Formats: sequence, structure tokens, C-alpha cells
Amino acid sequence: MLYTIDHVTSQQLTNPLAAAGPGPSAAGGIRVAGLVKTYERTTGREIVRTHALEQVDLHVAPNEFVSLVGPSGCGKTTVLKVIAGLLDPTSGTVTIDGARVTGPGTDRGVVFQQPALMPWLSVIDNVTLALRFAKVPKRERVPRAERYLALVGLADFHDHFPGELSGGMQQRVGIARALALEPRVLLMDEPFGALDAITRQHMQTELVRIWEDERRSVLFVTHSLDEALLLSDRIVVMERGRVAASVDVPIDRPRTRLGLLEDPAARRLRASLEEML
Ligand code: ADP
Ligand code: MG
Repeated sequence: MLYTIDHVTSQQLTNPLAAAGPGPSAAGGIRVAGLVKTYERTTGREIVRTHALEQVDLHVAPNEFVSLVGPSGCGKTTVLKVIAGLLDPTSGTVTIDGARVTGPGTDRGVVFQQPALMPWLSVIDNVTLALRFAKVPKRERVPRAERYLALVGLADFHDHFPGELSGGMQQRVGIARALALEPRVLLMDEPFGALDAITRQHMQTELVRIWEDERRSVLFVTHSLDEALLLSDRIVVMERGRVAASVDVPIDRPRTRLGLLEDPAARRLRASLEEML
């Protein structure tokens, strides 16, 4: 069911089912249609089923920044894993720029809550390895890895091993690795959750800067409405394995934290979203 909320007009609430239908940019961006995912687990002689995704239809237009919010357990990570090609759906399809997703690929930069680094590789080798998989020419790999590691504030840690870094620093290596692919699509699952407040703000600013520089489709999971409002063109609210609402963020860029706090439209939007969660 779609929510009806006071401050959001009906045009801003798009019908999630209609969103899956063909439109002018039907082929572009990320398109999730009729996604169902049931996890099955055997305990003794019983099969336990969890209906993680009941029916998810979602479109992220080319170059659009969409945040995905919703209570814990509503299926956000599952959606991202299916789009990343790391998890097979029970039914439904995912296409990226019109091509069906059947497995992982370097067309998608993925950042999960845990960075999944190779512990036996140095920081820079973790990034260049991903670039090798992406068939980036050899001579470009190190300079590109260096550029993105500098951007996440790890210029002095190239030769360290993941085990020698704090959790937040490891997470930033994972972010650098995903960004260095310069992918058409970025999938980020609470990527800044483990970072301290200052680093988090810095990473938010950098992410917007990169996205504005070189547009790409971003699907960004966050617990923070403030973060979603700061970053996104649109916020999709999930609830119990479904898309409950899709709300445009009609706030001019560049946005600042303070500006959002002072902007009455932003405050109304935030209050509406908060009511839904
Ligand atoms: P969110 O990211 O929104 O917190 P998840 O996508 O992680 O939600 O989980 C959605 C539902 O699927 C939850 O009920 C969760 O317990 C269940 N789930 C997630 N991963 C698995 C798994 N590997 N096996 C069984 N159930 C799972
Ligand atoms: Mg999750």
C-alpha cells in the first residue's frame, strides 16, 4: 500500500508498480521488476522460510541518486545484494542499462556494511586487484587507486594491511575500491555507518562531488533521513519487503546540513518521512 501523507503531493508519490512499466528511459539505469526473495533454511527436518521481499519494483534512472530507507529487516540489503548479482531472486528481474543481471560484475561498484577486503593484500593492492578484474589497463591501476585512496583520506596508508586499520578506515578502503571502478552504477549499503561524524560528513561531501562530476546511478541505503535528504534526488521507503513510497527531494543543490535544517520544505519532507518510518 502507498502511504498518503500531508506534505507530499500525489505526483511525488509514484506508484511502485507503474514504475516498473516501460517509460521513456525504460532501458536505462537500474530497473528492478517484480522482485521476490524467500530465504530458506533447514533446521532439523523443517524448512524455515523468510519472505524477505514480497514484491519490489524500483527504478533508478540514469544519473539519479536514490536513497533506500526503511526499518531494519524490511529487505534493503536483500534488494542490494540481488542487484549486485550476489544473490539469486526467487522471482523477478534486475536490469542495468537494459542488460539482465545474472551475477556480479564490475559495471556495479558495491559497498556493503562490511568492506570484505583481502586481508593478505595491502590497501593499494586491494584496490588495484579490483581494477584488474575490471580490465583497467595496467599502467592506469596504481595512479587511479592512489587518487581514490587520497580522496577517502588514506593517502598515507597504501602499504598497510587491512588488519592494521580501524574499522572505519577499512570501510573507506572499500569505498575507494568501489569508486575507483568508476562504475555506471553504485550500490551502497549504509556505507558510512561505521564512520565517526566528521569523517562521515567528509565522505558525504566527497560522494556528492564525485556524483556531480561524473554522473552515475546510485542506490544508497541509509538509516539516516538527514543523510538521505542531503544526498538524494529521491527517497524510496521500504516496508516489510515492499516499496511503500517514493518521494522526490525537490531541494536545490548544493545542499548543506545547515541549509536543510533551515529550509522549511526540507523540514516538512523530513517530518513526513519520519512519520512513515
Ligand atoms: P534490511 O537490510 O532492511 O535490514 P535484510 O534484507 O537484511 O533487511 O533482511 C530482510 C529479511 O530477510 C529479514 O527478516 C532477515 O532476517 C532475512 N534474511 C536476511 N538474510 C538472510 C539469510 N541469509 N537467511 C535467512 N534470512 C535472511
Ligand atoms: Mg541491511
